[in-house]
Amino acid sequence: VLLQLSFLLLPVAATCGWLFGRREKQAQQKKAYQLHPDYFKGLNYLINEQPDKAMDVFTKLLEVDSNTVDMHLLLGNLFRRRGEVDRAIRLHQNLIARSQLAHVYREQALSALGQDYLKAGVLDRAESIFLELANSKIQNKNSLQFLLRIYQQEKDWHKAIKIAEKLAVVSNEPMHYMIAQYYCELALEQQVRGDFKAALEHVSKAEAIDHRCVRASIIRAELATEMGEYHDAIRCYKAVKLQDPDFLSEIVPPLVRCYQAINEEHKLIVYLQDCLQAFPRISIIIAIGNYLQKIKGDKAAINFVAHEIQRQPSLRGISYLVGLYVANSYGDTKQKLHMLKNFIETLLSDKPIYQCNQCGFAGKTLFWLCPSCHSWNTVKPILGLEGI
Ligand SMILES: [Zn+2]
Repeated sequence: VLLQLSFLLLPVAATCGWLFGRREKQAQQKKAYQLHPDYFKGLNYLINEQPDKAMDVFTKLLEVDSNTVDMHLLLGNLFRRRGEVDRAIRLHQNLIARSQLAHVYREQALSALGQDYLKAGVLDRAESIFLELANSKIQNKNSLQFLLRIYQQEKDWHKAIKIAEKLAVVSNEPMHYMIAQYYCELALEQQVRGDFKAALEHVSKAEAIDHRCVRASIIRAELATEMGEYHDAIRCYKAVKLQDPDFLSEIVPPLVRCYQAINEEHKLIVYLQDCLQAFPRISIIIAIGNYLQKIKGDKAAINFVAHEIQRQPSLRGISYLVGLYVANSYGDTKQKLHMLKNFIETLLSDKPIYQCNQCGFAGKTLFWLCPSCHSWNTVKPILGLEGI
């Protein structure tokens, strides 16, 4: 416990040292800065795991010595990081209640209090604090970022769009791809309600702000499919290849369904064979294999898939191939091949098919917002040997 506490107090001590060092320099000719004896009393309480007593001492100290504001801010942040949010809130509220507090410190303490509420999950209080700070000269960028987090958490996409637009101006960082995702979220809400017209309006806005938004193309294609407009759907799915070919595996199965619906599967195969030249993905190989099997029989499918997975090794390809062999063998061989197929399937069933290129989070669902690092557009299909 002592070791843990001394680790906790190291930054406090370092900051004290730095603050006092700085002030001493500033007041070189003046009287040397003297540590108030209560400091040691407060530190002692902290070391002995009596944080409430320590806080009482520091709060009283604040009344007699305004130089302790930095120390308070630091302590509050440490409490929050240790998960002692109640203490952090009390400490920051004490600071803000001080009538003599300089404006810049008041804003810092308010921001810290907002973060306390955020951590405690009291989002409405955090929101009102960051809204107040959003016009501050120093705290505006941070506050807008926290507001964005809150609105994302609350799935309040209209508010998130407004804040992201402001943040783009303040921070000079690209926000268009996030705003497009917020419009996609709004489109999905309308799609679920069955209001396709409203959904399409949101999709159009997403496309206008980010013409590379894969998700917007997919939603537009899904809406067109639901309305029976298969040619439009096909056009939208094909746009994904130009926007980001990493997502090709996402559009192959729905493309197959669309072409089947209009009885033009032969046209799809021409398109897929063209894709395959530049992007040797197993999802494309299997789609062509299925078509060949239907039109020309198992042997044609086997020849094609076997040739392709020599070029592009793939566990899913091998499993598919073994499946075709099972259908064409008998007796003992059939049984052994069946076992082999089950073995590969079991192996694959534990493997993720999507991964975040920011934090490495992996799973079987395509999240547009990474659930681990909360970045947009960073989760993508896994390619290669174990990929799709
Ligand atoms: Zn991530």
